[in-house]
Parts: sequence; C-alpha cells; structure tokens
Amino acid sequence: MAQEKFTFQAEVSKLLDIVAHSLYSHKEIFLRELISNASDACDRLRYAALTDAALTGGDADFKITLSVDKKANTLTVTDNGDGMNRDDLTEVLGTIARSGTQAFVDQMAASTKDTGKKKGKDAKGGDDMALIGQFGVGFYSTFMVADKVEVLTRKAGDKKAWQWSSDGKGEFTIDEAERDARGTDVILYLDKKEKEYLDPARIEHIVKQHSDHIGIPIILKGDGGEDGDKTLNTASALWTRPKKDITSEQYTEFYHHAAHAFDDPWMTLHNSVEGVLSYTNLLFIPSTQPFDLFHPDRKAQVKLYVKRVFITDDCEGLMPPYLRFMRGIVDSEDLPLNISREMFQHNPQLTKIRSGLSKRIMGELKKKANKKPEEYADFWNNFGAVLKEGLYEEPENREKILGLARFKSTTQDGWTSLEDYASRMKDGQEVIYYISGEDADAIAASPHLEGFKAKGVEVLLMTDPVDDFWLPSVGEFEGKAFKSAARVGADLDKVEDVDKDKKKDAKKDKAGKAIEPLLAQFKVVLGEAVKDVCASERLTESPVCLVTSEGDMDARLEKMLKQNRQAGMPDLTPRVLEVNPGHALIKRLAKRAKASDGKDSLIADAAHLLLDQARIIEGETVVDPKAFSRRLSAVMESGLKV
Ligand code: ADP
Ligand code: MG
Repeated sequence: MAQEKFTFQAEVSKLLDIVAHSLYSHKEIFLRELISNASDACDRLRYAALTDAALTGGDADFKITLSVDKKANTLTVTDNGDGMNRDDLTEVLGTIARSGTQAFVDQMAASTKDTGKKKGKDAKGGDDMALIGQFGVGFYSTFMVADKVEVLTRKAGDKKAWQWSSDGKGEFTIDEAERDARGTDVILYLDKKEKEYLDPARIEHIVKQHSDHIGIPIILKGDGGEDGDKTLNTASALWTRPKKDITSEQYTEFYHHAAHAFDDPWMTLHNSVEGVLSYTNLLFIPSTQPFDLFHPDRKAQVKLYVKRVFITDDCEGLMPPYLRFMRGIVDSEDLPLNISREMFQHNPQLTKIRSGLSKRIMGELKKKANKKPEEYADFWNNFGAVLKEGLYEEPENREKILGLARFKSTTQDGWTSLEDYASRMKDGQEVIYYISGEDADAIAASPHLEGFKAKGVEVLLMTDPVDDFWLPSVGEFEGKAFKSAARVGADLDKVEDVDKDKKKDAKKDKAGKAIEPLLAQFKVVLGEAVKDVCASERLTESPVCLVTSEGDMDARLEKMLKQNRQAGMPDLTPRVLEVNPGHALIKRLAKRAKASDGKDSLIADAAHLLLDQARIIEGETVVDPKAFSRRLSAVMESGLKV
C-alpha cells in the first residue's frame, strides 16, 4: 500500500506554529507528555484486557522504555499499551479532539491577531508563554525539540502496524509498517540544538522531576543491552504511597498527568476511607478555570480506578455536575472490576462514594474559606458560578453551599458571605435583598436601589446567570427570605429610617396623594404596556423605574429564557411603572394633570417617554424608536415655546 499524505486540521497547524515559535523555557516537558500518553495507553489496555484477556497476548507486564541513538540523533519512547490503528492515527494525531485545546488555540490565535504580530516570537510575550505552559500541548509539544517525529504503532488485537510521520509543518504521512507486537514507539529526530535529550543523566533527571508518579516502570535502555537498563521512577501508583513520602511537586506533576492540566492545583485532597466502603481519593481543585468549564461537550474529569486498575475517565456518577471542576482519581476497593462502564453510572456503591466525596470537598472548602478568605476568593472567582448550580441540583447540600457562597454587595468591597450579610441587617429588616443583572457596576447604579441607599440597606449583587435559577428555588437562608429589590413591595418602609421622622412620612403620603391624577392618566395612556402605575417608595433621584410584580418571573430570567427560545415569543410580561412623587418633573406633571381634562398630549408623550427611559436604564431597547423620537422632539419643542 502506498504512502498516504494528509494535511493537519487548520487548528493543529495553528497550534504547531505557536509551538514552533515559542520561546517556551521548559522544553523538556515534551518527555513528560510522551510518558503520560504511554501510561494512559497502558491503563486503557489493562482495562480492556479485563474483558478480553487475549488483548495483552501474554504480555501484561506494562512498561515504558526510553532509548537513545546518538548516531541517528534520536530519542525513542516505547510502550506496550493499546496502540493505534490507521483511523486512530488520522483522528488523534491530525486533529484537536479536546474542546479545551480548541478553545485554547482560538484564544491564542485571537491574541496574536490583536497585536498584529506573533506574540510568541516576542521575548516579552510572557502572557502567551505562561498560557502555553499552563495549557501544555500534549503530543504536539514534541515539535519543540524535534524536526521530525515518527510514530510506529500497532493496536492491541491487530496484526497490521502503521507508521505516522511528520516534520510538524502542515502535513503528515501514514504508511503501512511492521511491528513485532502491540504498542507504540514515538521516535524523535532531535533538532541539532537539542542534543541534551540524548544524555542519560539529563533524561533521568527529567523523568524523576516530572514523571516519578507514574505507576508503571519507566526504563532507560543502557548501551550494553539488558544489563544496562535502569528503572528511573518509583513505579507505584502515587495515591498508594504514604502522604508523608509525597512532595508537593509530585502531587503537582500527578495532577498535570491525571487532569491533562498544566496549572498548579489550588487544593489537593488525598485521603483513604476504610469501612463499609473503602476507597482512596487523590483529588485536585485547579487554580485556573479550565477552558471547557461551561462547554456543552465537557466530560467528567475524575478518573475511576478499581484496585489500582484504571476503569474510566468519563464516569458521570462519580462527581456531581456542580463539582465538575474537580480533577484527579478515585480508587475503589469494592466496586466489581469486570462490569461495563455504563453499569457504573447507577451503581449504589458509587452513589455512596459520590456523596462521601461531595461532603469531604465541601468540608475542605469551608475550612479554607474560614482560615484563608483571600485564597478562598480565588477559588470563588473561578468556580463559584459552578458550585451555585448545586443549590438547585442537590437540595440536600443546599445549606452547605449557601454557607460557602460569596457575593458582591452594595456596601462591601470584595466578597461577602450570607452570614456576614445577616449580621449587618438593619433593625426591622426581615429579608435578604438582592438585585440581579449582568454587570455589577450597572446594577449597583440602578434606580431600584435609590431607596435602599438612602436607608443604608445593603443589597447583594447577583451577576451570574445561574443566580436567576437558584434564587426562586432556594427562597431563604437561615429563615430569611431572599427578596429582589426590583420587585413590587420591597417592604422597604418596614426597615427603620436612619433618622426616624414621622413628619417626613406624613409629607411622603401627601406627595403620593398629589400625584394620583397623574398616575391615573399614565395608566390610561400606557394601557397594556404596563401592569400598573403607582407611586414609588424606593426612588429618591430618578423620576421612574420598572419593577416586577409579585409572582411574575424575574425580568432577567425571562429575558434569558426568551433568548434561548424561537422567534414569535410574546413580549416580556408587563411590569409595574413606579413613579417618584418627590421628583421635580413628576410634581410639575402632576400639577398639569390636575388641571387637564385627561386629553393633554404632553402628558401622554411624557408617559411614553418615561416608560422608555425606565427600559433604557434596564439595558433594554426602546420598543418603537420612531414614536420615541417623535415624542422627544414634541416635548423639547414645547419646552422651547415658553
Ligand atoms: P491527550 O493525552 O491530552 O489526549 P495528546 O496530544 O497528548 O492529548 O495525545 C493525543 C491522543 O493521541 C491521545 O489521547 C491518544 O488517543 C493518542 N496517543 C498518543 N500517544 C499514544 C500512545 N503512546 N499510545 C496510544 N495512543 C496514543
Ligand atoms: Mg497527553
């Protein structure tokens, strides 16, 4: 069969370009990546052999071998793992399969485009370099040190072998080949400047530093054949070793390998549980947001092992979705080895492990939140929005999650907890006030909050889309209801005034009475466009604002739902227009309304303009721009007549 030529998927070419031009200072990580892949390949085959023993063909002695050929200038990484067939090769070594990698490349490509030059070439392009370092590029990192890479591989169970070859410049080839047994050789033809990777001492150092946690032997072939072979790593699963023998570097390297991640873990949880159920967990919380945190195709990321045998890295039942930022492994002693992956999903033992893990994770988060609030803030910035999904997904953990939740507020810098909010509540204040919207600064400046500011009442700013979903279902925290400041009847009058002044209240009532004719005329003019028009208690500066009726859906939630639905949806549910009786403009309009017969066109125009104004402040668009500009001109003109 003749050689076949392929071009890399456009994204891979972009990635390779970034790799080739990077001044990445830790080029040696290519070896860690290859060893990590070889170890994964052995893990996969060990699992497959549980149900099809023939696959290992009598060789279940998994290992990774490194060999150098100084004459040929090559470094070869060999494994007896599951190997690849022709389709695997074109699929996984020609494309970018993982959505995270895809997002990373898009981001890198966008950032190089922005500046109009290749940031990667720029010695000061520290940001991008940090990104590559954080992200890693897996197999493609080999092109940092090699001008040519060959992959000779035979899939377990197949007779045919294949050779993949590329210089990393846009194309690769695939040929039929010969290989004695299953497994893979990755042969790097090292760049002239990268000869250090032929040096056994250097290789040993790199393996010790980055790959000691790998559970199978990594053997460096000596010059003198078998005798000179040397095992470079400890070769036992890291999580089975005593905690005191594990360095934080080893934990970090393990995290890189298990999570395919490249940042440092923010938290490491290594525990063994013994009892009715026995298992060990070595879990990590990343210090940066994975790229696919909100990607619809994201997969579960905690690997399941049973008695040291890797089972799956896609085990949905192991971690609840609101803890999907967790990485690492769980190794069970009790789950049966020989059942299919699908059957794990609904296994009662797994469900118990899951709830045990959730409890532990939340316990550790609580400790951190209490002891190191600043570090906790980093966690909350990254994953708070995800954790809050648990508020409606898992009611049994609701109290715990509410305790862990942090919010921005109108009176505090940084994050605040609900407990702290409660301790600052004013006399007479019975509920926890919040306002929701996309942008904290914008909602903090919303007219809805004027009365709250005047009374010194703190309002929480809910800016994550998920807030609009959990708030209606959660309802309260420690007996105190959550109440939107953008709703009718915020009960603000129950909260005691800073200066209790009965006369002021009487004055307010009088002002309210004085605008009644105006409100009545507004109601007639605006008709169906509003649910009601009433005098406002909350407004101190703005003339009007829109509030949601008790029982109606929150305006922001409704907007979000509408965006996700097809065209032809009715308009938003009409809201209540609140009018500020103390505002100079409203007072004048009220006077005019009293004198008019209800057919004053200026009042009609003003009603529509004020409603539009209230919508604009909410970040909405004017419903009828033509009518809006006609009315605006009319009102301005009448002002000039005086
Ligand atoms: P990742 O390991 O994060 O999936 P890589 O770029 O490191 O990404 O590897 C891409 C894919 O190539 C792997 O997921 C695997 O399917 C395949 N692969 C790489 N090396 C080997 C190997 N030694 N044996 C079998 N498959 C491999
Ligand atoms: Mg990899």
